Amino acid sequence: MSEKRPSHVPIDNFEVKGNTLCVGGVPVPDLAERVGQTPFYAYDRQLMTERVQALRAALPAGISIHYAIKANPMPAVVDHMAKHVDGLDVASGGELRVALDTGAPPATISFAGPGKSPAELRAALAAGVTINLESETELSRVVAIAETTGHTPQVAVRVNPDFELKASGMRMSGGAKPFGVDAERVPELLHRIRDHQLHFRGFHIFSGSQNLRADALVEAQGLTLDLALRLAESAPGPVEMLNIGGGFGIPYFPGDQHLNLAPVAEHLDARLPQVRACLPEAEIILELGRYLVGEAGIYVAEVLDRKVSRDRVFLVTNGGLHHHLAASGNFGQVIRKNYPVAIANRMAETPRETVDIVGPLCTPLDILAQQVQLPKAEVGDLIAVFQSGAYGYTASPTRFLGHPEPVETLV
Ligand SMILES: *Cc1c(COP(=O)(O)O)cnc(C)c1O
Repeated sequence: MSEKRPSHVPIDNFEVKGNTLCVGGVPVPDLAERVGQTPFYAYDRQLMTERVQALRAALPAGISIHYAIKANPMPAVVDHMAKHVDGLDVASGGELRVALDTGAPPATISFAGPGKSPAELRAALAAGVTINLESETELSRVVAIAETTGHTPQVAVRVNPDFELKASGMRMSGGAKPFGVDAERVPELLHRIRDHQLHFRGFHIFSGSQNLRADALVEAQGLTLDLALRLAESAPGPVEMLNIGGGFGIPYFPGDQHLNLAPVAEHLDARLPQVRACLPEAEIILELGRYLVGEAGIYVAEVLDRKVSRDRVFLVTNGGLHHHLAASGNFGQVIRKNYPVAIANRMAETPRETVDIVGPLCTPLDILAQQVQLPKAEVGDLIAVFQSGAYGYTASPTRFLGHPEPVETLV
């Protein structure tokens, strides 16, 4: 009798040489030597390039792809992505500096975020990047800074739409939200923009994140385009950019499937003629984070101890929730589920035992995987956590319990 348990999608994007997992062609144990320590994150630049290329091939011509750098702000990663995408989206002054350091033209960088400080707004004005206005207060701040500095602000309006992206890992629109200006208040804000010396660039409508359902994305994108066309009637100038959000998810958990891009692409293709006719100057932008980089990275931790407690085997590693909060199940998940994991130096061996993989922190939350089938692991083995190229290192509480930080490498 076979037990029907959902499984992870096969992870076959990284090369395996003999018994050993490789990133960018380099065996993981060699990478550990190269970076000088475990734990570490390793990202494969070729996989990132291929992901952007595949996305472009699937989408209708002329749709721009932006990289939302909060997914992975490692400067080498952002540098690499900047060469392949059409723009960078940042959400803090720190990310803005990383984006500008790539040499990306400021006109291709936009800055969103519900609480931009006056200092961050001054930096954005001085740099000439597009500020996605999130409130009336922010507009007043930008106007005041422009009056004292003489810079002409480049502004778009971030809209909190009157609908939500269904079945999303993280919903960021619809109802009452701290993000953006409620759609019904946007026309008045647009009138205020007209009254000041501001360069109006367009709209930013982001409705959610980590979505694996093409039908939900199609529905949200349709509503987003309808809303943008309606709001454009009150715009103080031509809509130069229309950022329709992203939300494309990647499969993390057992039962998750890859997003089917075809219906999303077909729907955009069908809607584009109308949008182009109404907004002839608009660059239509998809902003994506994890979809572009999430599957291109692994997190590697070393087995420190192999403990048997009553009937369970625990592999205790030097890595855990302090480096990879999302894999521990504590970054927005309601029910804890396992990321796909493997023993990087035993890839060709058959699973022989069911284990729990835990970290070194003195808290029961520090779990990397529960009840997974793996080859028999020994102290010194290297555990690889897949789907770790986004929301890993910088989305984790590295100071918690005072263990050393991980390092990152782009291979
Ligand atoms: C977080 C965020 C993104 C990126 O989300 P992903 O799920 O990584 O694609 C894009 N745009 C905005 C406004 C965001 O806040």
